[in-house]
Amino acid sequence: MAIASIPLVYYKNIAWNPLWCKRCLICVEICPKQTLVLREDIIIEEENCIRCTLCQRYCPDLAIEVIPRR
Ligand code: SF4
Ligand code: SF4
Repeated sequence: MAIASIPLVYYKNIAWNPLWCKRCLICVEICPKQTLVLREDIIIEEENCIRCTLCQRYCPDLAIEVIPRR
């Protein structure tokens, strides 16, 4: 059985799932560096992410995560 691929959007530090995200803005509001913004229905990572993982931990839909360092 084929496993459906998850259409993640990759930024510098953050990966975001536009299908699972319900645009509740919890991640935008909890980010201590104002790194995340909602623009035209898309969550965008701007500058200053400190990889604190708060957005990942508080997202109720598992729709955002910090990309592991390679
Ligand atoms: S907290 Fe999760 S569901 Fe809410 S806007 Fe952020 S990524 Fe989307
Ligand atoms: S990891 Fe922390 S600093 Fe980076 S976007 Fe998420 S909440 Fe903001």
